[in-house]
Amino acid sequence: MSKATEILHSIPVDELTGSIAVPIYQTSTFVQDAPGVNKGYDYARSNNPTRKALEDIVARLEGGHSAHAFATGIAAIDAVIKLLKSGDEVLAVDDIYGGAYRLFTKVYEKFGIKINYVDTTEADQLLDHFTSKTKLVWIESPTNPTLKISDIEKIAQITHTNNALLVVDNTFASPIAQNPINLGADIVIHSGTKYIAGHSDLVAGLVITKTEGLGSEIKFIQNATGGILGPLDCFLTIRGIETLELRYTKQSENALELANYLTTLPEIDQVYYPGLPNHKNHEIAKKQQNGLFGGVISFTLKDDQIDSAVKVVTNTKYFKLAESLGGVKSLLCHPAQMTHASIPREKRLASGVKDSLIRLSVGIENVEDLKNDIAQAVAQLNYVNI
Ligand SMILES: *Cc1c(COP(=O)(O)O)cnc(C)c1O
Repeated sequence: MSKATEILHSIPVDELTGSIAVPIYQTSTFVQDAPGVNKGYDYARSNNPTRKALEDIVARLEGGHSAHAFATGIAAIDAVIKLLKSGDEVLAVDDIYGGAYRLFTKVYEKFGIKINYVDTTEADQLLDHFTSKTKLVWIESPTNPTLKISDIEKIAQITHTNNALLVVDNTFASPIAQNPINLGADIVIHSGTKYIAGHSDLVAGLVITKTEGLGSEIKFIQNATGGILGPLDCFLTIRGIETLELRYTKQSENALELANYLTTLPEIDQVYYPGLPNHKNHEIAKKQQNGLFGGVISFTLKDDQIDSAVKVVTNTKYFKLAESLGGVKSLLCHPAQMTHASIPREKRLASGVKDSLIRLSVGIENVEDLKNDIAQAVAQLNYVNI
């Protein structure tokens, strides 16, 4: 069975009525026959049938034992960190998602959880950083916005040899391009806000675990701390998943063609896209991403000036200026002034986010329209002598 067929038919038909769409159980509580005697549901924070449907679909999509749905991607990350206790350590990818960095440093360090940041694109470099207190290795692949790729299989081996668990934030690859649990990861997290829901109309987070044991720990945290996803957003996320394979494939095709085109424009300096053969980690991306490289492209401008980037991002017609990614409509942003604005300039430059770097989230529009849109925006820079 192909993935597209499997996804569509893993969405259950309602047993009570035959409804082909998953019903939205907009309720806070469930009537019981006698104290503790119920139909599997007692209170909507603990469990809800719409959420259960989404969680089962996502667990299957990622090849995990179970999945749990949270209010946002950050709430999902927060739930995983709560597996730890004071004194534990985490090894994390050095250009981790900014919101995760903020959560780790501003919230969890004061509870005695120590995070060490490492370049995980060279898996062997991890070896020097393990201590007896390292409990989690936390990676993203591809990363945001420079799209670095880490070898998940190799890192899983190194992590397990050192008695830690591997967490992969799979938001950028989506379950269509990459299933980290099949490559050895223990926990996968998603910002469901991005590709999984796919329509820029909600925020959501997901935690998928490989084992039943980890699944019940996350379930306990979900109920104990309460950051659940509401039933309407669960419904919308399921509806998004119906077209996930179609969207991600189209976005990847559009992005590959657009990335190649961008390399031919004289105003553009460097193009970052894992699907380009000159990308530093192209081979490993090809091996672990199912031939799909996603819809995110970043590029820099010849003069590398902030003002030039501003000119470009305010002169596109189809690429709308906004944070976030993964939706059907194309977006673009200027990380130096938006997603990465809170990071000191030196640190930002060290992680490869140059002043003029522009990040594109490629949608499902006609690719010729998208090419023309970027070409006319960069042409307005009127560079001389390039
Ligand atoms: C957006 C994002 C998050 C956070 O998700 P929210 O739904 O915005 O809370 C985490 N990781 C990555 C890679 C993201 O892009």
